[in-house]
Amino acid sequence: MKILKFGGTSVGSVNSLKAVVEIVKKEKEQNNPIIMVVSAVHGMTNLLTKMAKDASLGELDTNDLDLFQEKHFEIIRASIDVKNQNPIITKLKLLMNELEELLHGIAALKELSAQSKDLIISFGERCSTLMISKILEQSISNVQPIDASQYILTDNHFGQAQVNEEVTFSNIRKLVEENSDKLLVVTGFIAANKDGRLTTLGRGGSDYTAALIGAALHAEEIQIWTDVDGMMTADPRLVKKAFSLENLSYTEAMELSYFGAKVIYPPTMTPAFKLNIPIVIKNTFNPNFPGTKIQLESSVTKFPIKGISSVNEISLINIKGSDLVGKLGFSGRLFSLLAQHHINIVLITQSSSEHSITLAIHHNDLEDAKHLIENEFSLEIQAKRLEPVEVEQNLAIIAIVGENMKRTTGVSGKLFYALGRNGINVRAIAQGSSEYNISVVINEKDLSKALNAVHDAFFNHLNKTIHVFNVGVGNIGSTFLNQLEKQKDFLAENNDIEIKLVGLANSKKMVFDENGIDLSNWKQALKQTDRVVDLNDFISTMKCFNLPNCVFIDNTASSVLPSFYKQIFQHSISIVTCNKIANSSSYKDYFELKQTARQHGAKFMYETNVGAGLPIVNVLKDLQMSGDKIVKIEAILSGTISYIFNHFKGENSFGNVVKEAQELGYTEPDPRDDLSGVDFMRKMLILARDAGHHVEAEDVEIASILPQKCLEAESVEDFYKSLQEEDAYFEEIKQRAEKEQKVIRYIGILENGKISISLDLVNDQHPFYSLSGSDNIILFTTERYKERPLVVKGPGAGAEVTAAGVFADLVNVSSIK
Ligand code: ADP
Ligand code: ASP
Ligand code: MG
Repeated sequence: MKILKFGGTSVGSVNSLKAVVEIVKKEKEQNNPIIMVVSAVHGMTNLLTKMAKDASLGELDTNDLDLFQEKHFEIIRASIDVKNQNPIITKLKLLMNELEELLHGIAALKELSAQSKDLIISFGERCSTLMISKILEQSISNVQPIDASQYILTDNHFGQAQVNEEVTFSNIRKLVEENSDKLLVVTGFIAANKDGRLTTLGRGGSDYTAALIGAALHAEEIQIWTDVDGMMTADPRLVKKAFSLENLSYTEAMELSYFGAKVIYPPTMTPAFKLNIPIVIKNTFNPNFPGTKIQLESSVTKFPIKGISSVNEISLINIKGSDLVGKLGFSGRLFSLLAQHHINIVLITQSSSEHSITLAIHHNDLEDAKHLIENEFSLEIQAKRLEPVEVEQNLAIIAIVGENMKRTTGVSGKLFYALGRNGINVRAIAQGSSEYNISVVINEKDLSKALNAVHDAFFNHLNKTIHVFNVGVGNIGSTFLNQLEKQKDFLAENNDIEIKLVGLANSKKMVFDENGIDLSNWKQALKQTDRVVDLNDFISTMKCFNLPNCVFIDNTASSVLPSFYKQIFQHSISIVTCNKIANSSSYKDYFELKQTARQHGAKFMYETNVGAGLPIVNVLKDLQMSGDKIVKIEAILSGTISYIFNHFKGENSFGNVVKEAQELGYTEPDPRDDLSGVDFMRKMLILARDAGHHVEAEDVEIASILPQKCLEAESVEDFYKSLQEEDAYFEEIKQRAEKEQKVIRYIGILENGKISISLDLVNDQHPFYSLSGSDNIILFTTERYKERPLVVKGPGAGAEVTAAGVFADLVNVSSIK
């Protein structure tokens, strides 16, 4: 015997019912003995609950009744032959009249007892069972609808009644014996007490009905047919990357469902577990999916956990005070008080000093629970042996579950690292003594972010999604986006990283798409949007999305954007930037930014601040992290100036070389911005700070390349004129260099915490002698690299290499699992 339970979505539409008929027909064709259990049509239990509540306030909306009726009639009209429709419509009409009368009664009294509520919501299953039986009758013989309230006996705890298994099982056996030739279609969810009054088994309780019948008959299998591919690693509505599980132990299924995996109702496991009857969760809409099997043994998988589930609308109650210390019986009194009033404690944590107890309960129970506790312990509170009860609301619980956990170390570390890196504050923690579950209480607004971050952390064979917000689509920004587009498939395949561009802005507009802006079409996306750029708005939208593994990229030279960095870090969002402004403004700002990033578990990556894509910032960091000491840094970090001095040879005048460089696009529009050495100074400043020195821009000694007159020229044109006038000055330097067989270099030096930048002549023994084109070079003399310095050399400017540096930083942030 197999029990097949079909949930609300499986019986919620004409098409889904067609699928149900096919599934049942197949079983029947193979002569497999089965019993069906069915839920109310999707949404109907909620609708009935609403009607009952409205009626209790004296408000009865007939539209709701019409909706209830129409939902059923619509299915009947589309699924049953016209000539056979009347009898079932009449039957349902009678039930609906009864429902309407009851609701009127409640509305007149303005009172809704738990008992009446159960009676009202039982109409969902009572109607669906009759309707479905009629539909089945068209292709299957001997279909018999059964009202389970005649067979399942419970206590009087309306809303979530406890089943008397002995009587129930015997009733069910008798029912089946007497109807062995029939296909029984049983109402899920409903039962009755010994007086015959209707009770219900708790929301989602049709699964439990199936398990009770299965246990009564020692069935070979209990099948739960629903709308997803079995039990998944997380709720697929909240975690897109959730995947189906092949099997689970009863305990694992119990823990996952207790903490919110709605796909199966937790009490279902108990009767099945006692008799070791497998429960298989199957998909009505994908009958070929073999199903998730819930059984005694959990198979060992390569992951330390089986799944993650969550419950929202949670509140915490904190009880503190000296009366808790070492007093036997306090917790007993507290827990039995809440149990007596049917208040479910979802989670408990107690500090090891026993000075406080924290309870997580459903939000709906908060007011009652608080009152009860305050009343029960009023004397202790008055005597100040207990502090006033504290509550916290708008919380959620996420739980990681799996039997493998106890065999694996570092599971909780992984969980808290994933939460911490994403700035998710943990309010309370509980680990079951069985070690099958670790639960944490977090803010409800962080739930989706937390679930996805934790899922990415544990199921790391899946691609980890990085959510990117990029400002700036100039030379570097657009090159970066193009590189990203070309490389994204490679990253997904080889580095398990999926990059989603979620937000994009240029100087005029901005666009967002949580599912990812098409990287091959980002220009179009910016063109089409009518959202005008506003940096405040951009940053707050990014924060509102509250996505896991989030990176903000500043591909601008804006002096405004860095003022947002601090708040971005405070939101635990990492920053990758080629913009030098933040790190080269005041030391205080530099220091604060670094500290804020660290405090909030965010990364701050700015390799391209110095030498474009050349590995300089990271090399400096690695040297220091590995215990080396920086003795001296010598560098040429201006590609423009390198170019100019590399071409300032022979007959060419200095002015002409500068002009050439400008024409080739190597200089800023006003070449003095390069030649003044300010940009170079900024880079040296960043290196000095990263090397641990507290330096400000004013502390840097810059010997300008240009005579004062050239610097003071009013316009660029005047500047070129003044260069001509000062030609003798440059000619003298050039000739001196040629005579001494040296070359002219503009060199920055950091030594003993002091930075100087000046023109120098170097001979062919010097590593800077052979620098060509617009290359950069840097020498690190350290305690370890003392005899011969560590040299990094190569192109230090250009959109391609800078964008590649930004890209590398992004990948580095992302690859930290
Ligand atoms: P039914 O109407 O068939 O009883 P439910 O709505 O009670 O269906 O349960 C199925 C739903 O449970 C799915 O649509 C899914 O959104 C949700 N769910 C929550 N957690 C999980 C999980 N871990 N695996 C699968 N489904 C889950
Ligand atoms: N119809 C009930 C509910 O929605 C029982 C069930 O579907 O399992 O809670
Ligand atoms: Mg369900």
